[in-house]
Amino acid sequence: MGCETCSGGSCSVDGKGKGLPPGMLEQYKLNSNRSDGYLVWIEVERSGESARVSDVSKEILSKVRSMNNGSRVWGVIFGHSELKPLYKEIHSYGVETLYEVHDRNLTEFHPEEYAVALAQIIVRTEPATVLMGATPRGRELAPRVAAKLDAGLTADCTELSVEDRVLSMTRPAFGGNVLATIQCTSFPQMATVRPGTFPIAEPAEGANGTVIYWQTGGCWLKDIVSSERVRREEEDISRARILVSLGAGVSKDSIPVAESVARKLGGMVSCSRKLVEKGWFPPSRQVGQSGRSVAPDVYLAFGISGSVQHLAGISAAKRIISVNRDPEARIGEVADEIIVGDADAVLRELDKIL
Ligand SMILES: Cc1cc2nc3c(=O)[nH]c(=O)nc-3n(C[C@H](O)[C@H](O)[C@H](O)COP(=O)(O)OP(=O)(O)OC[C@H]3O[C@@H](n4cnc5c(N)ncnc54)[C@H](O)[C@@H]3O)c2cc1C
Repeated sequence: MGCETCSGGSCSVDGKGKGLPPGMLEQYKLNSNRSDGYLVWIEVERSGESARVSDVSKEILSKVRSMNNGSRVWGVIFGHSELKPLYKEIHSYGVETLYEVHDRNLTEFHPEEYAVALAQIIVRTEPATVLMGATPRGRELAPRVAAKLDAGLTADCTELSVEDRVLSMTRPAFGGNVLATIQCTSFPQMATVRPGTFPIAEPAEGANGTVIYWQTGGCWLKDIVSSERVRREEEDISRARILVSLGAGVSKDSIPVAESVARKLGGMVSCSRKLVEKGWFPPSRQVGQSGRSVAPDVYLAFGISGSVQHLAGISAAKRIISVNRDPEARIGEVADEIIVGDADAVLRELDKIL
């Protein structure tokens, strides 16, 4: 049975074993009475020889730290010796026991093999909750793991809370018109989390933990012959520390001015959905519920009214400054500072000053 709000349709439906080979579920059966704690798939981003922990993984671990009431936290990473420099940082975000699926071939993303190893580690550790980023990889991986474990999965969450081990997962549903809060009916409960939703906490200094190397027999179904990054890094507004964001209150002539301001501030230009609809910006620049969630230090909103869909994407922004000619514009409810004036004129003036 399918469901609008969860990936895989398993959030609250029985569906035991549908479509799975006999014996598969028995192999992965978990003891729900013992299930406790959090397991996070830690996504690693690689560039040449170097590797870094993805921001979304730090965001999830930060959220886990804020919700956790003394339960255990496990992390799982895939790769080889290039991961060693990351151990300390991962422990500093609250991971006590880190499972490293140790295989040179797994530095590349192989969803089938990753899913087998993750399911094995989940069976070993028995977490109540399994979390990963709703990134392109996380979206491929999470349903595979959920299917192996017969677990409920809520995709693309924008809020999480926990009470007595039970996770409440909130995500936009029905085309973004409602926010649905979902609970799973069994353990482990799984969720993918939209990047940029939660702020990254300060790492704990001097934190230590254990690293366990895990070998998986794998199920090598394919070889990746070559791979190429399609999305350019500089287009990722969810990583920008400063965003100059434009809405329907600015004129098209202001786009180069906004780009100049953003460049001078070391930031990027983003926009509301209205400007994507006008064709002024690609969808990758759209902030909001059906666009990207962002978490900049400063979000400068020019001519943006503050619709509920737009505000859903900026809840993690540290400081919001709104420039709007309407002093009553809804964005004022969340803005730290409001400048009442003409957005084009303020942009030009700011560019001149900078
Ligand atoms: C399912 C769904 C999903 C959606 N997802 C998103 C999303 O992800 N992101 C998103 O942004 N929207 C989204 N929307 C659209 C959303 O409802 C709004 O229509 C949109 O956010 C409005 O964009 P805006 O603030 O730029 O425009 P408007 O609401 O038209 O606001 C323009 C603002 O500019 C001000 N203004 C006008 N002229 C000037 C001037 N000269 N100087 C200064 N201020 C001026 C006005 O006072 C007004 O406040 C979604 C809608 C739906 C139904």
